Amino acid sequence: MVENVMDKIVSLAKRRGFIYPGSELYGGLANTYDYGPVGTELLRNIKNLWWKYFVQSRPDMVGLDGSIISHHKIWEASGHVAGFADAMVDCKNCKSRFRADHVIEDYLSRMGTDPSQYGIHFKSLVFDSSWGFNKGTEIEDIIRKQKVEGLDENQLDALIKYIFKISCPKCNIKNGNWTPVRKFNLLFPVQLGIVEGEGGLGYLRGETAQLIFTNFRNVVDSTRVRLPFGIAQLGKSFRNEITPGNSVFRTIEFEQGEIEYFFDHDETKWEPLFEEWKKTMDAFVVKQLGINKENVRWRLHADEERSFYSKRTEDMEYKFPFGFKELWGLAYRTDYDLTRHQEASKKELTIVDPKTGKKVLPHVIEPAVGINRLLLMVLVDAYVEEEKRTVLKIAPQLAPYKVAVFPLLANKPELIKKAHEVFTLLSPVYMTAFDDRGNIGKRYLSQDEIGTPWCVTIDFDTLADDTVTIRDRDTARQERIKVADLILYFARKLES
Ligand SMILES: [Zn+2]
Repeated sequence: MVENVMDKIVSLAKRRGFIYPGSELYGGLANTYDYGPVGTELLRNIKNLWWKYFVQSRPDMVGLDGSIISHHKIWEASGHVAGFADAMVDCKNCKSRFRADHVIEDYLSRMGTDPSQYGIHFKSLVFDSSWGFNKGTEIEDIIRKQKVEGLDENQLDALIKYIFKISCPKCNIKNGNWTPVRKFNLLFPVQLGIVEGEGGLGYLRGETAQLIFTNFRNVVDSTRVRLPFGIAQLGKSFRNEITPGNSVFRTIEFEQGEIEYFFDHDETKWEPLFEEWKKTMDAFVVKQLGINKENVRWRLHADEERSFYSKRTEDMEYKFPFGFKELWGLAYRTDYDLTRHQEASKKELTIVDPKTGKKVLPHVIEPAVGINRLLLMVLVDAYVEEEKRTVLKIAPQLAPYKVAVFPLLANKPELIKKAHEVFTLLSPVYMTAFDDRGNIGKRYLSQDEIGTPWCVTIDFDTLADDTVTIRDRDTARQERIKVADLILYFARKLES
């Protein structure tokens, strides 16, 4: 039932031109997607709204657009080259590759939270010294928590092969036939120029955040910023991960919206600042994106899943059809990143307080969101099946088209001419669709499925009195308006 809803949304997204599978013409390329005509508009509207809300309407924020390819030393200093990796395991029988934590957690969710149901006598289990576990109670705890976050490769290996003896989820070979669990780095290396070796090594950025840290000095020197202030960036990041489907929820190439909010640790208390950011993010999701408040919640990271340098991390989660999942991370990263880059580059990354002359190495709070994930949330949250139609009730300011213009009949030149005039009037102000195919009912249904809030129909009365019918997407109610009043009418609607 639940997967059914997700399947329907994925199918609508392809059928109506939101999201296509990547490289489909050549059989597809896993975990990549292309955005179609209306998907491109929606993605752009979300990005523009994010930028306007977090950068342009705040005096304490500036923007940055860093390079996608960057120096390997950035990613060494940030810790990504050494530590940004997933533990993977291969089935030797069917050659499928899986994330080790997913294999175990899927098994745990199938078997449940009661250790007595596993058919294993944990008290008398004999532990090999290489497993990284000492007592049966540790395994029982994992079963109750249903989480393996923070475990190392040896522990994951022992759980899959020796303790739970998990079968391959793909070919089901009994007790499994697994390779050892190994770590794979998620960064994409790029060989630059024709010189082999370290000199030509770059990386596609694994996150936009590092470009903000490495440009901190430049921004401070070239602008009038003063602590506390934030630098925001919107753009693509790349992670070579194996992902479990769910459309654009997790992909190897994705669009991030990241903010590093810098503050003087001695002057500003981080706890109230952290709470303020939570409120700002809530307001953006509920008021700007028009998402149902009930479908959003916050989850505090436990010690074992938080990065060692973070003092607190909380995730804003959205209730997708496949469960509550991370939408937006908020982390207090201390001065970890600037310290690392200061040490590695041997350049000073402090800012001088103009009032006291004090040099400060700022701490940061980081709100980081995947824009593609916001888009998927908007589609899921807007999807409504009614008796006779499927509607995307997308907030009007996000809708790919604001207005669709129809001539009532496609074979009457005078109606078509007038409809083109109305299109020409509206299209410089609002993204406007024009449709004269099929009957009016079919045109309404297709605009409903892409979330167009208003449809304008030109009929024979229009020719006589210059009025048109406006049909509202959500209520299907119609009203009659003068052509000359249309622009103001939609402006008022979009404001409310
Ligand atoms: Zn297999």
